[in-house]
Amino acid sequence: MGQLDGRTALVTGGSRGIGAAIATRLAHEGANVVITYARAADRARALVDGLAGKALAVRAEATDTARLRQAVTRAVDAFGGLDILVNNAGIAPYGPFEDVTEADIDRILAVHVRAAFVLAQAASPHLGEGGRIITIGSSLAERVPYPGWALYAMSKSALVGLTKGLARDLGPRGITVNLVHPGSTDTEMNPADGPDADEERRYTALNRYCSPEDVAATVAHLAGEGGRNITGASFLVDAGAVA
Ligand code: NDP
Repeated sequence: MGQLDGRTALVTGGSRGIGAAIATRLAHEGANVVITYARAADRARALVDGLAGKALAVRAEATDTARLRQAVTRAVDAFGGLDILVNNAGIAPYGPFEDVTEADIDRILAVHVRAAFVLAQAASPHLGEGGRIITIGSSLAERVPYPGWALYAMSKSALVGLTKGLARDLGPRGITVNLVHPGSTDTEMNPADGPDADEERRYTALNRYCSPEDVAATVAHLAGEGGRNITGASFLVDAGAVA
């Protein structure tokens, strides 16, 4: 018996990296899992195949709100309901502040903020007592130790307000809403052997990267019974980068 037996989770950006680790962990805890992806169809299919019958992959570009709403409907149709929404899909453009275009601003806010808001709205009618909304932010919402990340940090810190506000909106229905801020985490977005990795490690108290599974463990705790009285909160899983 898993702590999430009989529950259904929707994880955006579940084809790779942190989202794939979250989807896998929630499935191992007993949940049915629906993942979304934008491009990595083969990776998404392989993950779903590995979870034998308890998972489904849906292509849903995060800027396409109609597709996001359809992903919720697909989850409900496939598994008879929805209990857990994990907003994870993300991008990490960075570079000189002076070079950021208005199109860059619109895109990152659409992927990180608008998508999370729209999905929460679409999922909300299906979530019952004990429902969960968990969003993946970034330690850069709390501390930005290097230049070039203002736009990304702005988009991730907006999720703090969204999380607190939604906690108030949905708390009366017994639904919790929380935010998990990874620090440097070994994925294709930020490989632990990448050109900036040693510098990123130096910013941490533990002198190491996180793994996607580290982040998934905190998400699983919040999704389970242990998270029943945690809401409106942000959690750093960052090896002490913000310490
Ligand atoms: P990856 O690049 O490894 O994976 C990103 C995932 O998001 C993929 O599944 C990808 O799908 C999906 N995705 C990307 N863009 C879109 C889009 N426009 N529409 C729909 N899906 C999309 O990144 P991580 O796993 O590292 O990152 C996951 C989350 O964690 C992000 O929100 C990121 O900002 C955050 N984070 C990561 C950190 C790190 O160091 N890795 C640190 C702090 C936060 P597909 O491949 O199919 O396009």
